[in-house]
Amino acid sequence: MSASMSAIDPVLREVRLHVAPPHETVTAVITKNELCVRGPKSAKYVRHIEFDVSGTALEGAFAAGQSFGVVPPGVDEMGRPHQVRLYSLASPSAGEDGAGKILSTTVKRTFFEHPETGELVLGIASNYLCNLQVGDAMQVTGPNGKRFVLPVDIQAHDYLFIATGTGVAPFRGMLLELLARGCERQITLIMGSPYTTDLLYHEEFEALSKQHANFRYLTAISREDNGPALGKLYVQDRLRASMEVLRGQLASTSNLIYICGIAGMELGIFQALASELRGPALAGYLAIDPAVAGDVGAWSQRMIHRKVKPTRRVMLEVYA
Ligand SMILES: Cc1cc2nc3c(=O)[nH]c(=O)nc-3n(C[C@H](O)[C@H](O)[C@H](O)COP(=O)(O)OP(=O)(O)OC[C@H]3O[C@@H](n4cnc5c(N)ncnc54)[C@H](O)[C@@H]3O)c2cc1C
Repeated sequence: MSASMSAIDPVLREVRLHVAPPHETVTAVITKNELCVRGPKSAKYVRHIEFDVSGTALEGAFAAGQSFGVVPPGVDEMGRPHQVRLYSLASPSAGEDGAGKILSTTVKRTFFEHPETGELVLGIASNYLCNLQVGDAMQVTGPNGKRFVLPVDIQAHDYLFIATGTGVAPFRGMLLELLARGCERQITLIMGSPYTTDLLYHEEFEALSKQHANFRYLTAISREDNGPALGKLYVQDRLRASMEVLRGQLASTSNLIYICGIAGMELGIFQALASELRGPALAGYLAIDPAVAGDVGAWSQRMIHRKVKPTRRVMLEVYA
C-alpha cells in the first residue's frame, strides 16, 4: 500500500472568513496587556494582549489558529491609511472567557534601522498594539486563514506543533482547545527561542504538561546550552535530539505537523524530517523530487518551494 493510501489526511474545520473586512472594521477594547516573557532579565518586547469583541460581528467568529487584522490609526509616509497587519490568535475558539468574547494574541515589538538614515524605526502596528492600555479601543478585522486550523475530528490525529517566537500563539490556542475538549491523542509542542528568558507562556505549558500525560513540551534554545551533551539547539536540532521519544509519534499515519514562526524555519525542519525518516513515514509529510532526495544537506530555502512539497498532513504558517 502506498504512503498516501495509508496516511490519514486531516479534514480541517470549516471556518468563517472576513466577517469584518478591512472596510468594515469592528471596535475591540483592550482588557489585558502584559509582558509575555520570563522575568526581569528578559528583553521586554513580547506582550500577551487580550481584547473584548463582545456585541460585535466578531463575537464567536474565530477558530483556534486563525488570525485577525489590526488597522493602526493614522497614515503612512504617502498619506494613505495604514494597511492591515495580521496577528495570530493565542486563544482557543471559545476565547479566553469560554464564550468567544475575549480574544488574545502575542505581539513582538518590531524595530529596524532605516536603510538610508540608519535611524531606529519602530514597526507601526506591533508597537501601537504593545502600547495600548486597558480600556483603549482598536479597529480589528477578520477572521483570516482557513488552512492553519484543527481537524474536525480532533481524536483522529496526533499533533506535533513546532514554533519559533510568537509563532507559538496559535499553538497556545489549539493546545488549550484540544485539552479542554478532552483530546487523548499525543500532543507535542517544540518551542524555540534564542534564550530561556524569551520562552513564551513557558510556565503555562510546563503546568499543562504536568497535568496532561498526553502533552509533551520540549524547548530548543539557540543561544544557550540545552544540557551538557546537547549544546545550542534550533527547533530542528531538538527534533533530531528527541527522536527517540518522537519517532513513534512521527511514524503514526495520523500524525499532523503544524509549523509556525519565522519565515525560513521550515527548511531546517524539512531537512531533519528527511534525514530521520524513511519510506512511507517520510512520504506522509513531504513529497520530495527524486533529483534532490539524495543530498538533503544541500537543500536551500529557494529550492524547497519547488522540489520539497509538504503533504496535507503538514500545516505551515510563517512570516517575516
Ligand atoms: C498570518 C500572519 C500571522 C502573524 N502573527 C503574528 C503574531 O502572532 N505576532 C506578531 O508579533 N506578529 C505576527 N505577524 C507579523 C505582523 O503581521 C507584522 O508584520 C509585524 O508585527 C510587523 O508589523 P509592524 O506594523 O509593527 O511593522 P512595519 O511598520 O510594517 O515594519 C515591518 C518591516 O517592514 C520594513 N519597513 C517598514 N517600513 C520601512 C521603511 N520606511 N523603510 C525600510 N523598511 C521598512 C522593515 O523591515 C520592518 O521590520 C503575523 C503575520 C502574518 C502574515
